[in-house]
Amino acid sequence: MGRSIELRFSPRLRAWRGRLLSGGTRGQEVHAGSFLRRREIVLDSELLRRPAECSRIFVHELFHFVWLRAGNPWRRSWETLLTVEIDSRARGELGWSAERCKGQLTPRDRQRRTRRWREYACESFCDSAAWLLGGRRTHLEFTLAVRFRQARRLWFERFLRRDELPV
Ligand SMILES: [Zn+2]
Repeated sequence: MGRSIELRFSPRLRAWRGRLLSGGTRGQEVHAGSFLRRREIVLDSELLRRPAECSRIFVHELFHFVWLRAGNPWRRSWETLLTVEIDSRARGELGWSAERCKGQLTPRDRQRRTRRWREYACESFCDSAAWLLGGRRTHLEFTLAVRFRQARRLWFERFLRRDELPV
């Protein structure tokens, strides 16, 4: 078992140059941020009033830690699933984080497994976990076609059934 992960809430979160700020006008508004090395998740205080959204976003952030520990074979397997989707012209995603990354991808990113591609793989993994385990059945951000969702669900079932859970 890994060390514990600290969770805290902070008001008016913004992401700016790789930092997480509270208040001000710099950077972009965000719901949450994770610090993998510090083992800390910070959620926007506003989410305390929206429990369903809060749990979805919490699961997303938690799965950043799972991705880190998933190991290369599982990460590569996830990337293969995404490649199959893209080859099948799958549009949409299961969350805005992944959707934003997907929109920026070029064929070269995929072929060379650039940083952008790896970021997309990570965000789609976290958004898929949040879709599957976050407790919401529908959400405006769930735009991936149903047949692709089914493949992701099956992948996660295999992944989560491993003898040793990665968290
Ligand atoms: Zn994320």
